[in-house]
Amino acid sequence: MPAGRDTRRVARERRTITAMIAMYCRDHHQRRGLCEECAGLAAHADKRLDHCPYGTAKPTCVQCPIHCYAPPMRERAREVMRHAGPRMLLRHPVLAIAHLMDGERAVPPLPGRRVPPPLSDQKAPAGSER
Ligand SMILES: [Zn+2]
Repeated sequence: MPAGRDTRRVARERRTITAMIAMYCRDHHQRRGLCEECAGLAAHADKRLDHCPYGTAKPTCVQCPIHCYAPPMRERAREVMRHAGPRMLLRHPVLAIAHLMDGERAVPPLPGRRVPPPLSDQKAPAGSER
C-alpha cells in the first residue's frame, strides 16, 4: 500500500470530522463559523488524529478500537456523528462515500499492542487466562 494514499486518507478523515462538526454547529448553535465549544471539539479531534497510534493505517474513528477522545469530548463527538452522519451523504457526498469505503477496510492490528478479537470470536474458556 503506497504511503501517499494513506496520508491522503488521514487528511480526508480530518476534513470529514471538521465538516461534521461544522454541520452540527450550524444546525444547533450558530449560523456562521464554529462556536467556542465546537471549535474546541474540532481542535481536540485534530490533535487526536495527529497522535493516532495507527498512524497512516488508521481505521475510521467509528470502527477504531481505541477510544482516544477525552470522555466529555467523546460524548460530544458521538452527538455530532449522530446528527451529521446521515446528512453527510447529502451535503458532502464525496467525503461521505470515501469515508464509507474506508469503513470497509479491516481494522489493522495496532503496532506494538494486542488488539482484542471481535466480541463474537471471544471464547474465553474458564480458567485459561488470569
Ligand atoms: Zn457549536
